[in-house]
Amino acid sequence: MSKKLVIANWKMNLDYSQARELSKMISKNNFKNNLVVAPSNLYLKAVLKICENNPQIMVSSQNVSEYENGAYTGEVSAKMLKSLGVSYCIIGHSERRLYFGEESKVLTTKINQCLKNNIVPIFCIGEQENDRDKNEHFKVVKNQILTVLDKINVKSIKKVIVAYEPVWAIGTGKTATPYQAQEMHFYIRNLIKEKYGLEISETIKIVYGGSCNKNNAKDLLKQKDIDGGLVGGASLIFDDFIEIVRIGELF
Ligand code: PEP
Repeated sequence: MSKKLVIANWKMNLDYSQARELSKMISKNNFKNNLVVAPSNLYLKAVLKICENNPQIMVSSQNVSEYENGAYTGEVSAKMLKSLGVSYCIIGHSERRLYFGEESKVLTTKINQCLKNNIVPIFCIGEQENDRDKNEHFKVVKNQILTVLDKINVKSIKKVIVAYEPVWAIGTGKTATPYQAQEMHFYIRNLIKEKYGLEISETIKIVYGGSCNKNNAKDLLKQKDIDGGLVGGASLIFDDFIEIVRIGELF
């Protein structure tokens, strides 16, 4: 049975006490599936501590340095994250691509840094609205995914979680329809099958992100090729987030 993975991306939200409070509320619950919480780096240690007795909760960073160590003021390396107990890392979120100019080359290095340190990369891809208007969404996604995965050791590809996040749906309240999301997830899985083989394509997790909320989660998460959800805004509201996680447990 497929296990749906729900990931909370808190982005640059919540102060320290709010982040601690939300983590405490989440950690008091028993879950059937694993879930991932991605707070600000500043709160990672506290969130890890609060969640340490709940084996289903994994903690993620929202970014990582492309560099291993050294004179890179302000950067946080994969090795540092690992030494805290962080086990996942979001890479290539559309906000990082847009505001920080991150492109495939740097994203590949970041993914490789994570893999080297046993951190699961959550690799975000997704087209802009005008790509879809021009019917170029498959081409854009294909290019985003293959330019990166082609530079990763084939044996490690199945450890990567792919997050399909159409940029026009992130934080906008517009969601891909379950049909559009399933269609793209199927396309991605098939692409991976053609390039890297059946086993990898069946093992790799492909999660959907983009205004996923308690009202649309069921229709999205029940889709065959949607292995979970990456949730931004709705993950900051405890009741809404737990409802999405509970929906994920149904499938
Ligand atoms: C995200 O930031 O990855 C995201 C999907 O945000 P939202 O759910 O708010 O659209």
